[in-house]
Amino acid sequence: MSRIAYVNGRYLRHRQACVHIEDRGFQFADGVYEVIAVKGGGFVDEAPHLKRLHRSLDELRIAPPMSDAALKAVMRETVRRNRVVDGILYMQITRGTAPRDFPFPPGVRPSLIMTARVQRPIDPTILDRGVRVVTVPDIRWARPDIKSVALLPNALGKQHAREAGAYEAWQVDGNGNVTEGTSSNAWIVTAKNEIVTRHADQAILNGVTRVGVLQVARDAGLTLAERPFSVTEAKAAREAFLTSTTNFVVPIVRIDDATVGEGRPGEFVRRLRALYTDFALKGVVR
Ligand code: PMP
Repeated sequence: MSRIAYVNGRYLRHRQACVHIEDRGFQFADGVYEVIAVKGGGFVDEAPHLKRLHRSLDELRIAPPMSDAALKAVMRETVRRNRVVDGILYMQITRGTAPRDFPFPPGVRPSLIMTARVQRPIDPTILDRGVRVVTVPDIRWARPDIKSVALLPNALGKQHAREAGAYEAWQVDGNGNVTEGTSSNAWIVTAKNEIVTRHADQAILNGVTRVGVLQVARDAGLTLAERPFSVTEAKAAREAFLTSTTNFVVPIVRIDDATVGEGRPGEFVRRLRALYTDFALKGVVR
């Protein structure tokens, strides 16, 4: 079956779907995006994703291309036309197309594209055995809290991880603290059973999964701390894990060459994955 992409008001064959060479997303990474998980044909955490999309747009002063009701209709139509039951929806909004010049072009319509694709469930061996992360310096701009399409440092970090045989790279700031992964948030569980993830300031993307995991952990009465943690602290942690829309909760058993805990996924990560999965599936909207 051929894939279909939504591009500025039209549903096109994926192969032929194009934006203009002077789209500011292409020229300047002047755009934002969201990735939403599709489960059983419905959307996981739709409301918080749309809320974050609006925050990103507001921060960059890009006007929404259409109402939320219209956006939701396009999301559903894109998923339907691609016959995605379990997978992901990708949407990108850029400031639009205009002759290449830095200042915001007046009177330009933002561009909107959407794609959807099937994604197989995560490999169970990943969950059984856990994964390795490697650390890289965080070389991003100072506003990674905005979900912009300026993802070159993230791509470089992920490539470094792949070449090192690791699943993800954890980015490290100038103080030796882990900010986040290249496409996921970073977590540890300390020897005192405290679940730690960096506070959501301008240095990280506040993951929708991160917020969901914080909520289920809080509801379960677990001890939480939103604060920076160092690579040294992480290597000495009892457990470590990452969270994202496409991974939910994935255990980490090695950081660089250090074994985390006993080198196996621990009880906290197992429990949090189960709690979050339950929460996410209950929140699916069609
Ligand atoms: N941090 C970064 C840099 C990301 O790209 C992502 C995935 N978009 C996340 C964290 C996780 O966010 P979410 O849970 O909303 O997918």
